[in-house]
Amino acid sequence: WRNPALQKAAPTLVSLSDEAAAVAVDDWSQSSLSVVVVGASGDLAKKKIFPALFALFYEGLMPPDFQLFGYARSKMTDEEFRKLIGNTLTCRIDARQRCEDSQAAFLARCFYCPGPYDVPEGYADLNRKCTEQEALTGKMVANRMFFLSIPPNVFVQAAGGAADNCSSPTGWTRVIVEKPFGRDSASSAELGRGLARHLTEDQAFGADQHVLNRKPSGCGLHTRGLLSSQGSLCCLVPSPACLLDPPHRRCPRKQGPYATKRSFSPYLLQLAFLTPYIVSLDGEAILDEKVTSDGGAIHNETTIQSMPFTACPPHPLPYVSSDGEAIRNKKVSLDGEAIRNEKVKVLQSMSQVALEDVTLGQYRARSGAGRSGGAELPGYLDDETVPKGSLCPTFAAIALHINNARWDGVPFLLKAGKALHTRGAEIRVQFRHVPGNIFKHKVGPNIDMTTNELVIRIQPRESIYLKINNKVPGLGMRLDTTKLDLVYNDAYSLELPDAYERLLLDVVNGDKRLFIRDDELEQAWNIFTPVLHEIERRKVAPELYPYGSRGPVGAHYLAAKYNVRWG
Ligand code: NDP
Repeated sequence: WRNPALQKAAPTLVSLSDEAAAVAVDDWSQSSLSVVVVGASGDLAKKKIFPALFALFYEGLMPPDFQLFGYARSKMTDEEFRKLIGNTLTCRIDARQRCEDSQAAFLARCFYCPGPYDVPEGYADLNRKCTEQEALTGKMVANRMFFLSIPPNVFVQAAGGAADNCSSPTGWTRVIVEKPFGRDSASSAELGRGLARHLTEDQAFGADQHVLNRKPSGCGLHTRGLLSSQGSLCCLVPSPACLLDPPHRRCPRKQGPYATKRSFSPYLLQLAFLTPYIVSLDGEAILDEKVTSDGGAIHNETTIQSMPFTACPPHPLPYVSSDGEAIRNKKVSLDGEAIRNEKVKVLQSMSQVALEDVTLGQYRARSGAGRSGGAELPGYLDDETVPKGSLCPTFAAIALHINNARWDGVPFLLKAGKALHTRGAEIRVQFRHVPGNIFKHKVGPNIDMTTNELVIRIQPRESIYLKINNKVPGLGMRLDTTKLDLVYNDAYSLELPDAYERLLLDVVNGDKRLFIRDDELEQAWNIFTPVLHEIERRKVAPELYPYGSRGPVGAHYLAAKYNVRWG
């Protein structure tokens, strides 16, 4: 509890701007916080949630009366649960001092309650255990936060059980659910309706699963091209982690009218984006992920339908708030609802994906060489858990179009895949060639060597760089492409937070800016559902690509169709 802003529970706790200050602020000197991880025995809890909670605790960002409760069907005592958590904690933030003490202090706040997900009695037991421990804090108000870290098929039962039997009687109750869920518009809406029967809009926090999944991207939630419906692409330069962060010791807080000065890209880049001379790609390539064992393939079978969300449409930032007052005052807003309104507007402006704008791929075996040390690299169908002859894609490339005045004619190409040659996630903005260009090194009809690119790399090594062309020193006239770059780890000797830390802190603070709203999810599904159904109906076979390659050749044809160079 070393963060002065939190100690005072001042309105600056969660806000970067006046509008954002509208987010309710808790007086933590009067209230306690119970975090309940439902599915506490699972992989995600161990890998991400417990370490993130510990990191926040270690940094003094959790309220002083914070407690952690695990809930799952597995039988465990409090002691066994503490041992399980203890094995997941690392001293990554500050390996030098006090980490062991902090770990012990953290573990002393952890409790476990075994119980089923679909029976109210289990949650009643949990409620008793929480109430008991909350009473010991002596605080009048006990807030509760649930993280549903369980498979989506038990979401509704668990949310219902928790909300109906274990809500806080004195403070707020918030429930985190990872989205998107479902296979298409209809199944997603059904799940959404199920949750809405138990949770109000205020209580439900829909986390963007694919953004969170970009491990170990500390700036994953922020280092994105942010696109307002007015068409301004807002690159979060120079400090993405700070821009949307609450006061945090890793992000020294600036004084003054913060949001208006910092919420858009630097003036230079804004000018660049005023012209429609750009092409944007968001690529994700995963090589090292376990794709052929431990059920990875099964997971793939069920989630591949939502792959387009992995490279989700560029998130917008409101140019002006959709709130009438803000529009009249021409004020920039970082208010959660305003941001999400703008995101919905962008999605509403997007055309549904056409099948001819989709390339699907599936990786095949490749005889060993290089990294594999000579071993054969297995194909997707070689996994014994994969149904024989499965048409499940392990790669997708898609072209999207935004039908508004700013982006008319600018293709947005997205790709995501497994078993590719490299692993990473980035947004790449390609600028078109300069009309009347006197340099002749053409590599495509509209792209030549003098094409500039802005790259926002989310992982690995978070960075932002501008690819420019430069004359090679010497007496000759030879051009070369070089980078003006900012690598976060080189520029700042600060530990970048994990995306789950950001997520959990936002929920504690009631800040919904980075969460998915139901109408946003609905719009996103509307863009993809028809093509997903068509792919299923026509049984479209994915194009095979070798394990460890750049993906199917079709993806390059798709890029070429839009005059984009795809690296
Ligand atoms: P797990 O498969 O590890 O399941 C979590 C817990 O849920 C298990 O420990 C088990 O606990 C219980 N459980 C498992 N299967 C079932 C079932 N069929 N019915 C009821 N309960 C079940 O999942 P993860 O921890 O990997 O993931 C949790 C959620 O997070 C999922 O929705 C997943 O899609 C999502 N996610 C996971 C990521 C990861 O890296 N693992 C990344 C991004 C999202 P018990 O038996 O003790 O009750």
